[in-house]
Amino acid sequence: MVENLKDSSQLRIHMTSPERVFVPSVTEDNGNTIGLGVFSSEETAWRVLREFLKKSDMMALTRSDILIWEVDIIGDEAMTVLSSMHCRDCPVCKRRTFWVDLNSFSALCSGKACQAWIEESTFEPGKLDIGFPPTRFLKQTGSIEDAMSELHDVGTNLEAAGNTPNQGFTSIPEE
Ligand SMILES: [Zn+2]
Repeated sequence: MVENLKDSSQLRIHMTSPERVFVPSVTEDNGNTIGLGVFSSEETAWRVLREFLKKSDMMALTRSDILIWEVDIIGDEAMTVLSSMHCRDCPVCKRRTFWVDLNSFSALCSGKACQAWIEESTFEPGKLDIGFPPTRFLKQTGSIEDAMSELHDVGTNLEAAGNTPNQGFTSIPEE
């Protein structure tokens, strides 16, 4: 995860002192918070967090956060929450890998061979687009409840067809 820090261009960035730092972390079921590092760019913080979330089916995680801290400022005014996501059971694969961003409503399963997603439509505000890439399933719904139940149906159909989450969906061709 930190291999890129050995890269010389990264080292140069780290030598200048940043005015703000990006701090991704995840929280486990037992309330324990795991810090994933302190980064000088938002992009790196996201990359580190996304990489870590791929492991979420092996852990019991409840949430993730990315905080921005202004350097050399005393007190919690120096801190801004950039992103908070909650982890739920995925309606398709049933693993605890469904990351829901509550600010900009969107959700994505980080489970292997699943990647079910929900996103607010960019063309029709208020509508939600949902998808399940392995079967190229795409649909639009009007509410979060409908979106979840559509995805739940996708999961039920897959189970009926004999697929279990841990097998992946190997019979379906990938892009
Ligand atoms: Zn899933």
